[in-house]
Amino acid sequence: MSVGRPTIPTALERDLKLEVGYRCPMPQCRETELDRAHLVDYSKTHDDSFGNQIMLCPTCHRKHTKGTVTTQDLRVLKARLAWENDRYTGTEIKILSLFAQHHGTHFSHSKRWAPCVRFLNADGYIEWVRDDVAEGVPADVYRLTDNGRLFAQAWAESGARQFEFNGPDLRPRQAD
Ligand SMILES: [Zn+2]
Repeated sequence: MSVGRPTIPTALERDLKLEVGYRCPMPQCRETELDRAHLVDYSKTHDDSFGNQIMLCPTCHRKHTKGTVTTQDLRVLKARLAWENDRYTGTEIKILSLFAQHHGTHFSHSKRWAPCVRFLNADGYIEWVRDDVAEGVPADVYRLTDNGRLFAQAWAESGARQFEFNGPDLRPRQAD
């Protein structure tokens, strides 16, 4: 670990281990010795969020480093795990579905229901942009991060449940 790099909080490390049930999550592997792996190399993004990390055994970690296991493979794996672990709320699954089906990066969401998007926020897939008012109700505008946009694609590829979008209940927004 290089000097100045923040140490990972214990709670996040535990969350990553619980995500995989303390075993390597690669199908057919199930090794119990675990490394913390970044989906996109830490040196490129300085992203230490839950959404950019996964626990892998040293052998599978090396396969990722060499590119045999791609970053998008790991995103699909994380989408499957999230689905199996019931990590995301119905609203969050709608947001992932929306952006898998529509271009765009921004959406507006009622402040009253902010807890419904807390995991996408904490995991680094969305970030708050500004306050908004939607039909007279205080709202927040969020944007999908780059990792979030790719995770939405992975969600669709993973076979997890998707909502079909033709209704107005979530609104794609233009970037400012
Ligand atoms: Zn493994």
